[in-house]
Amino acid sequence: MNEVMTCDGCGVAIQTTDPNALGYAPPSSLEKETVVCKRCFRLKHYNEVQDVELTDDDFLKILNTIGDTDSLIVKIVDIFDFNGSWLPGLHRFAGKNPVLLIGNKSDLLPKSVKKERVKHWMKYEASQLGLKPVDVLLTSATEGKEIRDAADAIEHYRDGKDVYVVGCTNVGKSTFINRIIKEVTGEGDLITTSHFPGTTLDMIEIPLSDGHVLVDTPGIINRHQMAHFVDKENLKYVLPKKEIKPKVFQLNEEQTLFFGGLARFDYLSGGRRAFTCHVSNDIEIHRTKLEKADALYENHAGELLKPAGHGGKALDLVRQEWTIKEGKTDIVFSGLGWITVNDPGAKIAAYVPKGAAVTLRKSLI
Ligand code: GDP
Repeated sequence: MNEVMTCDGCGVAIQTTDPNALGYAPPSSLEKETVVCKRCFRLKHYNEVQDVELTDDDFLKILNTIGDTDSLIVKIVDIFDFNGSWLPGLHRFAGKNPVLLIGNKSDLLPKSVKKERVKHWMKYEASQLGLKPVDVLLTSATEGKEIRDAADAIEHYRDGKDVYVVGCTNVGKSTFINRIIKEVTGEGDLITTSHFPGTTLDMIEIPLSDGHVLVDTPGIINRHQMAHFVDKENLKYVLPKKEIKPKVFQLNEEQTLFFGGLARFDYLSGGRRAFTCHVSNDIEIHRTKLEKADALYENHAGELLKPAGHGGKALDLVRQEWTIKEGKTDIVFSGLGWITVNDPGAKIAAYVPKGAAVTLRKSLI
């Protein structure tokens, strides 16, 4: 009979076939006396936490576990893809546990944007989505901004309890935790095998000073994310690294904008007006006449209009139409960015790849 081998670090069942999935260990490592999964190996040797792929069932299990604890939940979202990275189920599982909401990647927002305003906006959106966070913070994990504040807030709100950090993949959860570890421990090599608890399934516990732990939960893959529609080398288009420079387009009725080959915006009616586009600076925006737009996409997706789908193929773009009823509305192309419309009355259509989301919201900026 085959004995199930488990990781000496986190207790997850070891597998040797999928390097990106939970519990992977290279076959050669099974000969060793102690076997640890790739995730624990990286944490131990490089002080680095890593993402693994997780099924929805795995994630539900994790949420259920958290619901049963008495802890602080730190929920990280990508401020550039707020709704797309939200994790809708969480507040139902949080139970009585307080949730600290962290909007990461603040460095992507134009410098002119007032951080307080964004935090207000986050609070408002969170309450619309059913969550009342104890506090809201805006961090940049890559630039180290407000990381000290985040560490202080975690210390304050955890009130002597454990901390669970949750977030979907690509929100910067690993970068954030690695920063927090550095912030709290200095550059020192705090995490060693002896700190591995060897108990909980698929969660990594990082010790805090008072015997409690900060738990890194695996990130859930959000299949609606734009990142899944493009090839690896095109990720920079959907995971921008630098401050977004807004681009203003004065459009006449029946004009179309293409965002590379990934999304399309038709301005249908409402008189000549301005649209402010907030997308990765690397994405080229092409303006054309509405009547020519279909043919342009058909003939030039993946070339003039790039990036497009995997292998440069045209994507199956799905159309939705709206009349903008309120001023200062964002049309959000989940994961790609958004277009701000200042005044009501515009009739528009937005297109994103089938499976991705396009939504309207109160303007962030
Ligand atoms: P995880 O999947 O949530 O653990 O996210 P990662 O930490 O692996 O980060 C995903 C991507 O977002 C990487 O390309 C990071 O460099 C990038 N990233 C993480 N934090 C930030 C941030 O604060 N600002 C920006 N611009 N990018 C970030």
